Amino acid sequence: MSLKESEMKSGPSCTTVSLGNYRFSDPPDPSKWADCVHCGMCLESCPTYEQTGQEQHSPRGRVHLMKSVGEGKLEITGDLIDPIFTCLDCRACTTACPADVDVGGLIEQVRGQIRQAIPLTGRKALVSDFFLKGVFPHPSRLHLLGSLLKLYQKSGLQTLARKTKLLRMMPKHLADMEAILPEVGVPVRKKYKHTNVINSHFAP
Ligand code: SF4
Ligand code: SF4
Repeated sequence: MSLKESEMKSGPSCTTVSLGNYRFSDPPDPSKWADCVHCGMCLESCPTYEQTGQEQHSPRGRVHLMKSVGEGKLEITGDLIDPIFTCLDCRACTTACPADVDVGGLIEQVRGQIRQAIPLTGRKALVSDFFLKGVFPHPSRLHLLGSLLKLYQKSGLQTLARKTKLLRMMPKHLADMEAILPEVGVPVRKKYKHTNVINSHFAP
C-alpha cells in the first residue's frame, strides 16, 4: 500500500497521527474510501453536483480528492477548501452508495485537517471563535442569541434590513450567514422536539 503513515506512542497503545499529507492527529480513516469503486451511482443524489456539474463537487470527486491527500499525491492547499467545505453534509450520497462509503464522515474528518493546516484568519476567525468558543458551549449565551434572533425576525428588523439592502454593507460572509438564518418558531421546535437545549432556546 502506498499510504505513508507515521505513528506516535500515546500511553500504552499506538495512535495514528498522520496519513500521507494529513499531518495532524485524527486523520481520516482510509478504510472509509477503500470501498469506493467510482461507479457514480451517488452523483444524481448530490445537490452540489447537480448545481455545479463539477466532478470535484460530487461525492465521487470529493472521495477521490480526500484519498489523494491520504496517499500523499495531493497537498492540502486552498484548492481543497471549496470542494470540501461546500459539501452540505446532507448524506444523500451515503444512502445512494451501494458500497456504503461514508462520504459525510470522511468530509468531517478532512475538514478538521484542513482547518488545522490552513487556519481561518481575520474576521472569519473572529466569527468562528465567537460562535464555537464563546457561544455554543454556553447554554445561557445560546439562549440569549436565540432571543435576539427571535427579536430580529419578529420585530420586522430582518425584513427592513433585507429590503433596504443594508446587508450589502456587511462583510459578504456575514451577509451569507444572515441569508440562511433559520426562522425562529414552531418548525424548529417540532423538528428538534427531542433536543431540550434547542427546544427551549428557539421556542416562539
Ligand atoms: S461513493 Fe459510492 S456511489 Fe459514489 S462513486 Fe464511490 S462507490 Fe460509487
Ligand atoms: S453529503 Fe455532500 S457529497 Fe454527499 S450528497 Fe450531500 S452535498 Fe453531496
